[in-house]
Amino acid sequence: AAKKMGRNMFQFYEPAMNEEAQERLRIENALRKALERGEFALHYQPQVDLESGRIIGAEALLRWQHPELGLVSPARFIGLAEETGLIVPIGAWVLRTACAQAREWLEHSHGHAPMRMAVNLSARQFSQPDLVQTIAAVLAETGLPPACLELELTESVFMNDVAQAVSLLRQLKALGVTLSIDDFGTGYSSLAYLRDFPIDVLKIDRSFVNDIVTDPDDAAIVVSVIALAHNLKLRVVAEGVENREQLDFLQQHGCDAIQGYYFSRPVAPEQFEHMARQGRHLDSASSTMAA
Ligand code: C2E
Ligand code: MG
Ligand code: MG
Ligand code: MG
Repeated sequence: AAKKMGRNMFQFYEPAMNEEAQERLRIENALRKALERGEFALHYQPQVDLESGRIIGAEALLRWQHPELGLVSPARFIGLAEETGLIVPIGAWVLRTACAQAREWLEHSHGHAPMRMAVNLSARQFSQPDLVQTIAAVLAETGLPPACLELELTESVFMNDVAQAVSLLRQLKALGVTLSIDDFGTGYSSLAYLRDFPIDVLKIDRSFVNDIVTDPDDAAIVVSVIALAHNLKLRVVAEGVENREQLDFLQQHGCDAIQGYYFSRPVAPEQFEHMARQGRHLDSASSTMAA
């Protein structure tokens, strides 16, 4: 019976696997051409300070508009871009584009506090020997003050050579940029790296934020991570805040900033500019501060 089932499963899965492999190949080939064809764009999601209720920064998020495939989500191509190494030139484009955009917004900020631009770095980029030079060059070219650039790293970059990672992070810090840990709590969450590495910000992964209001375990984790971060003099940002209840919880427990659909989805640069110009903010902040 097992044999028979095995054969059936084989028949059932083979065409699907094939399709998947073909789809990967198709995306990989298209990915190779996407940069020269100008098919990439960046969307920007605001980061909002929970004390002032104001936008304090943006995360740059990659979007791929393919002529036939349509809008391809990063979930479908970032992994492939990493495997093939294409993430290196694509990541350099992201860095240059985001920094140029941040520099332009800085010029128009007219006395408002400068916004910080957060850019995601993949593990593959992190292991490029010329990463520090690339970032220094982009800052010089675009004229963006280093303090306005935040680099988001995931815990995976710490898994290989710890001594080398520490040295690289120190070199990045020496440029004057801000370093944050993205998706905190989902990867290799070692407390040793929080102690040894020059990190500024923890971004709590949205999988913990999702159920903070209903799941006591998630609530306990989030409250503890906020306390841990603050005791280590780190800022803490919650990802994936989708509703008022989550926001209230995070505000009550002293989280520094949030990012999420509740305030805004990632949007095209013109829309972000519009939001910033309107001075859009969390209406909660003033009443909380008055109370
Ligand atoms: P991430 O860096 O953790 O980015 C946050 C993701 O959560 C974004 O997905 C964002 O659209 C989504 N998000 C934000 N607020 C909410 C919310 O309230 N609810 C829900 N359900 N989702 C929310 P996106 O843009 O699809 O990007 C997915 C991932 O792809 C990113 O996760 C990041 O790991 C990667 N990625 C995106 N752009 C780049 C890039 O330029 N370079 C690299 N290396 N990776 C990138
Ligand atoms: Mg990120
Ligand atoms: Mg994240
Ligand atoms: Mg995440």
